[in-house]
Amino acid sequence: MKTPLIDPFQRAISYLRVSVTDRCDFRCVYCMSENMTFLPKKELLTLEELDRLCSTFIGLGVEKLRITGGEPLVRRGIMTFFDAMTRHLGSGALRELTLTTNGSQLGRFADDLYAAGVRRVNVSLDTLDDQKFADITRWGRLPQVLKGIDAAQNAGLRVKINAVALKGFNEDELFNIQDWCAARDMDLTFIEVMPMGDIGNEDRLDQYWKLTDLRARLTERFTVTDLPESTGGPARYVRLEETGQKIGFITPLSHNFCESCNRVRITCTGEIYTCLGQEGHSDLRAPLRSSPDDAVLEQAIRNAIALKPKGHDFDYSRQDVSGRVSRHMSHTGG
Ligand code: SAM
Ligand code: SF4
Repeated sequence: MKTPLIDPFQRAISYLRVSVTDRCDFRCVYCMSENMTFLPKKELLTLEELDRLCSTFIGLGVEKLRITGGEPLVRRGIMTFFDAMTRHLGSGALRELTLTTNGSQLGRFADDLYAAGVRRVNVSLDTLDDQKFADITRWGRLPQVLKGIDAAQNAGLRVKINAVALKGFNEDELFNIQDWCAARDMDLTFIEVMPMGDIGNEDRLDQYWKLTDLRARLTERFTVTDLPESTGGPARYVRLEETGQKIGFITPLSHNFCESCNRVRITCTGEIYTCLGQEGHSDLRAPLRSSPDDAVLEQAIRNAIALKPKGHDFDYSRQDVSGRVSRHMSHTGG
């Protein structure tokens, strides 16, 4: 057994999120500009490189692997990668293989994902209104995503909905979305909009809907009980006693969750970000490509973990988005 990955603040790294592409079939307004320039293919890790990288992390104690993007299901051949990860589930080294998706391709892939050992998927959905959905995603169409969610549930996948909380956009749909999820036995997580990418500061502050306000609105209608569980990430959970539903809040801005952070992220080009809110990163692609010897890669991973910062610096309190990072969420993987 190898020495596990422990960062300088004694946090064990057991959770890896990997972005497998920067491309997407949607252009959500808070995530991408309409005319994005994507990376040339040679910059991306190949499916074989992704396998080697993830397998090395799993050998060092990573037990949970989440695949994201861009839209992971638009990466050509991505099922080959999921199928390859099945062996780590079989050996027991990996406890969970999962993905975050916009749902557009679930109609095609839900059964295959289940067969590969995926049991839960997060589907991002901010509105149940056709026109608003088209507005916020620019290129997405709601019926296709709803069909994808049906396909996922029919395949036996547990679906959790992730909704970005946007002031003036989906505030009025809070109870609609919550009811809809309850009726379909789906958990629901709200995400505070984060200052990522090159979209103007003004817009981002206008869109910022504090999740403490959202939570207060839920208490008007439900008995809300805090749940002690933490996944080591930025989400905190409550249960609505009347529906039994679990609701999550991802609040990187108004709540500091860094002390229990157990995760690192890899971009589709093989950079490792040990903190979502910091620019600091290390390159794993060069060591990956420089030698077939996994010891070189392993050392590069250990060096990167040794630089994991204590926490992020996002701060909206001064009415200016300070601590903002310039890269897009689709690059790091949300
Ligand atoms: N395409 C997939 C999807 O939409 O689920 C996976 C990648 S997407 C970047 C992952 C998550 O990041 C989505 O739930 C999306 O809503 C969220 N996201 C993107 N930009 C964001 C931002 N600026 N602030 C908060 N969440 C954001
Ligand atoms: Fe694509 Fe997901 Fe970004 Fe929307 S949030 S543009 S679906 S990567």
